[in-house]
Amino acid sequence: MSTSPGGVAPAPRTPPASARRESGHDTPLIRADKLSVHFPIGGGLFTRKQMLRAVDEVSLSIPKGSFFGLVGESGSGKTTLGRAMLRATPITGGSIAYSDGEVHYDLVELPKSQLIEYRKRAQLIFQDPYAALSPRMTVRDIIAEPLEVMGITATREATDERVRTIAAKCRLNLEHLRRFPHAFSGGQRQRISIARALVSSPRFVVADESVAALDVSIQADILNLLKALQNELQLTYLFISHDLSVVAHICDHVAVMYLGRLVETAPTRELFRAPRHPYTKALLSAIPSLDPDQRGTAQKLEGEIPSPTNPPSGCKFHTRCPYAIDVCRNTEPELDHMGTEHEVACHRWQELALHDYD
Ligand code: SF4
Repeated sequence: MSTSPGGVAPAPRTPPASARRESGHDTPLIRADKLSVHFPIGGGLFTRKQMLRAVDEVSLSIPKGSFFGLVGESGSGKTTLGRAMLRATPITGGSIAYSDGEVHYDLVELPKSQLIEYRKRAQLIFQDPYAALSPRMTVRDIIAEPLEVMGITATREATDERVRTIAAKCRLNLEHLRRFPHAFSGGQRQRISIARALVSSPRFVVADESVAALDVSIQADILNLLKALQNELQLTYLFISHDLSVVAHICDHVAVMYLGRLVETAPTRELFRAPRHPYTKALLSAIPSLDPDQRGTAQKLEGEIPSPTNPPSGCKFHTRCPYAIDVCRNTEPELDHMGTEHEVACHRWQELALHDYD
């Protein structure tokens, strides 16, 4: 058997998970292939122009009907990836295909005339329910605005009917529709945000840290609502979060991002049972445990996440990884398919799995 640099045997190759999903019931609703989003920054009188690689050649397939979690530290590129999938940020390279059975869009090449059609099918739930809602508009007008902007309803009666229907699904009543946002608690405001996002009947919803600003007791209420709406409205979510305990509770698939790259993806149960990437392992071990025997065993992540304007060579995680060897510093690992839907980008995953990271 040939070995890669550093004497590490390559993993046996199986067809990519994305290819297997195409032939099975896990048909992707949206799929990114080598997607990159880079931003030029600086370039002033005294500063050199630099390229911020927020998302760097990410390939990701989100199955139709899934609750797909995207996790990683601040600065890992999660939000930019989510916005790219909504076509809300310029794309530098790669492709994104959206297909819901009725329409198929190549999102990178999408002309402006079709972009508004895509907006009806792909929506965002914001993180901060306090900042997301205009204080000068009634709840009815806030929820109705997307219908009017996108020309979805022809008459005021039709708009009102649709607003009332989605408001009821989000557990808001008629009295609520006449009030202004300041009259509501954080949880109620987030339900208004959700109603606004869903009023155009989207298929794909990006929820970006949508419960992060809420009290823990309210978080459960909003997560349960998102789950119920997923079943009722046949939604597919990309759920962006830094909170792995929330992701474990609600998501069926998880992808882990580090410095603009995907380092591991798997069904949630599999990822939490047997993480293979040292970064994922460190993130999971940092989840607070109620078990006294588990306390204090967290594997600390040393140092800060490096700057995406000057990422490390080879494996982007090598500056913080306790298992880094020469090959890690020189060669970037690709996502490797482990024979299931579990994929990992680490030169040493097999070796480390054998020793269970001793
Ligand atoms: Fe660590 Fe090397 Fe694996 Fe990167 S490739 S996660 S540096 S062991």
